[in-house]
Amino acid sequence: MSVIAYVGIGSNLGDAAFNVRRAVRALGEAGCVRQLSALRRTAPWGRTAQPWFVNAAVRLETLLSPHDLLATLQRIERRLGRRAGYRWGPRVIDLDLLLYDDVRIEEPGLLVPHPRLRQRSFVLEPLTEVGAFARGSEPH
Ligand code: ATP
Ligand code: CA
Ligand code: CA
Repeated sequence: MSVIAYVGIGSNLGDAAFNVRRAVRALGEAGCVRQLSALRRTAPWGRTAQPWFVNAAVRLETLLSPHDLLATLQRIERRLGRRAGYRWGPRVIDLDLLLYDDVRIEEPGLLVPHPRLRQRSFVLEPLTEVGAFARGSEPH
């Protein structure tokens, strides 16, 4: 049975908007992208001495488990040119699993809902736009 998940997308290397759009297309491998937020330019978070980001979020209908979805996001990141860097550093693409149905996961390699979601307007705004907090938008 399919579930609704929300994925956050960010890029601040190369043509960031282009990278975000490529990632949205690639997310077709993870399921069906039901809605894409506006792409917004945002100031870097955590480490501020780096280029601004382009951020967006999608609502995704998926058949994948949370772990398989994360693995798919990481595979797409690598294919789009993500190299190991430091946390909160510049990257070609960043795909975060923000919400997965109403599931909570607390494992070393997978935390859902994404733990820093509430502190970040560049995540909350696009998430709101694609219906994550709308009443009646709960996944079926
Ligand atoms: P942040 O997680 O604060 O947004 P980041 O995106 O820069 O920082 P990464 O370097 O991309 O962090 O990822 C670090 C690790 O976070 C990954 O190896 C992954 O296992 C783990 N992780 C835990 N929960 C999640 C999640 N919900 N979505 C994506 N990665 C997650
Ligand atoms: Ca991130
Ligand atoms: Ca990440």
